[in-house]
Amino acid sequence: LTFLGIESSCDDTAAAVVRAWPDRAEVLASVVAGQVALHAPYGGVVPEIAARAHAEKLDTCVEAALAEAGLALADLDGIAVTAGPGLIGGVMSGVMCARGLAAGSGVPLVGVNHLAGHALTPRLTDALAFPYLILLVSGGHCQFLIARGPESFQRLGGTIDDAPGEAFDKTAKLLGLAQPGGPSVEAEALAGNPKAFPFPRPLLDRPGCDMSFSGLKTALLRARDAEVAAHGGLYRQTRADLCAAFQQAVADVLAEKTRRALKAYLAEAPEVPALAVAGGVAANRQIRSSLEAVCAEAGVRFTAPPLKLCTDNAAMIAFAGIERFRAGTATAADLVARPRWPLDQTAPAMLGAGK
Ligand code: ATP
Ligand code: FE
Repeated sequence: LTFLGIESSCDDTAAAVVRAWPDRAEVLASVVAGQVALHAPYGGVVPEIAARAHAEKLDTCVEAALAEAGLALADLDGIAVTAGPGLIGGVMSGVMCARGLAAGSGVPLVGVNHLAGHALTPRLTDALAFPYLILLVSGGHCQFLIARGPESFQRLGGTIDDAPGEAFDKTAKLLGLAQPGGPSVEAEALAGNPKAFPFPRPLLDRPGCDMSFSGLKTALLRARDAEVAAHGGLYRQTRADLCAAFQQAVADVLAEKTRRALKAYLAEAPEVPALAVAGGVAANRQIRSSLEAVCAEAGVRFTAPPLKLCTDNAAMIAFAGIERFRAGTATAADLVARPRWPLDQTAPAMLGAGK
């Protein structure tokens, strides 16, 4: 099966072509056009600007992806498009583009949940078998899910406030480091002492898999202000220490909550137990190695897709479309663009039908 995927739910316009066989899949082309420069003057993503940029760039992204794959529209078995969750203007641009392409070519159209795309990526890269545990950890999300099937996800818990990526970005901003904050905080932390500041590990005293990262951000702000008040500025070493202590706190919270999520998942005695991480924060070496250690301890396989498939892309959407197409459960109702679409309600039409 060969699918075109289209993604436009945030600030990346993306198109990709994925081919799947029963036991493996391959990305034939993946094009991502970012909008960082467009939004930079406003200090955040402006929905109207994003929607307009998507509408302008979608056609060229699709053309570029098809050309890279050496395929024409008529060669496709399907077109998959992100129908939510995300910024509604961007999602609508993508859905309209996909509808046009499908109507013009007669190729079937499948609506896909953006988060399902992230959560299914380990099956695209690693042929991981269901059920596996997935930790989605990005700029906008942080949650544990048991993936039981292409449309069956059980949420075990997640952040009750900020996502870790957002906390990394804010930390970088507070310390005058470059955006995106994850990579710059990670680089700075290399020279720092993680024990220099006793940052909180929120919610560790509470049972379950819920997490909180906003208190950590406040603690960092206070520590920075105290240093500035005491010394009239931040020493280079202090800045590195702040980064190291912050990163260690995030890694510790994720590791402990992963232990708990694994316990719930392993209680079901999966045949080949596995934990997959996805999302931009999964690129962090310290977080990755502490999760790897937790998995080794529990005798669970650890897998993380390559970074360019962890951050927003359309290959994951094409692949999720293929999985839904194979399951035969895609409906026209999935093609309605929606700003909110929790992952444990991936197929609302099917839920109504008693599935
Ligand atoms: P979502 O997909 O949830 O809507 P998003 O598109 O912002 O959110 P991603 O593109 O998956 O998320 O990831 C971007 C985030 O990952 C940013 O917040 C960035 O700081 C963070 N990040 C990237 N590299 C690293 C790293 N090495 N360490 C920590 N965080 C990182
Ligand atoms: Fe995303």
